[in-house]
Amino acid sequence: MLVATGVTLAFRSGGGSSSPGVEVEFLATPTPATGNTQPRQPTRTPSTPSTTLPPGASGFSYPIDGGCLPQDDALMPGAPREYRQGTHEGVDFYDSDNCVAIGLDTEVLAAKAGTVTRADWDYQDLTAEELAELEARVERGEGNDPDVLDAFRGRQVWVDHGNGIVTRYVHLNGIAEGVEVGGRVERGEVIGYVGESGSPESITNSGTQVHLHFEIRVGDAYLGQGLDPDQVRQLYEQAFSQ
Ligand SMILES: [Zn+2]
Repeated sequence: MLVATGVTLAFRSGGGSSSPGVEVEFLATPTPATGNTQPRQPTRTPSTPSTTLPPGASGFSYPIDGGCLPQDDALMPGAPREYRQGTHEGVDFYDSDNCVAIGLDTEVLAAKAGTVTRADWDYQDLTAEELAELEARVERGEGNDPDVLDAFRGRQVWVDHGNGIVTRYVHLNGIAEGVEVGGRVERGEVIGYVGESGSPESITNSGTQVHLHFEIRVGDAYLGQGLDPDQVRQLYEQAFSQ
């Protein structure tokens, strides 16, 4: 079972059009020593982060057709989020910083073949009341609660690629027909559609946060965790090279 733990989130308000309005992140909190169901050794943040790809973390294609890595390191994994003492753990595909037009319902593609482990078919859009309650919980210091963070990630699909490698597709507007938990998807297969679900702006300023947040997880960590921005970029360039 995949459970996000040790999650933090934060808001960014008043940013430019290329600035994410809400970022949801997953810190590498080690899972409890007991009850470990991972098929491989528990993954912890290595004391010496590796600048080479772990097994199975290569051969990805971009989750947006014609897409590329954003130029702005702030949209890359490892970007500092000092205002909440966190780091960004995924790659943001915004129309404002990518190689291809990205908009509402742009197709989201499986970055690699794998097995679907999450597909939020029953997702219900946040309501203003739910958003107010979530923001109140953040104010009370409950922003790290997994259910709070999960709510802010909106509609999601997760794909398990083996070797502890999982990709997450976040803030979706919809899920592609036939994508079901336990089913297999092939690289390049349409699995969902870009949206802004789960973001506060989906209620307060609709249409301003349409983007795909895409994560490559390695066990409990994100790919490139602990590396500096240039190293992270090199690692993701390798991960996406064919
Ligand atoms: Zn993001």
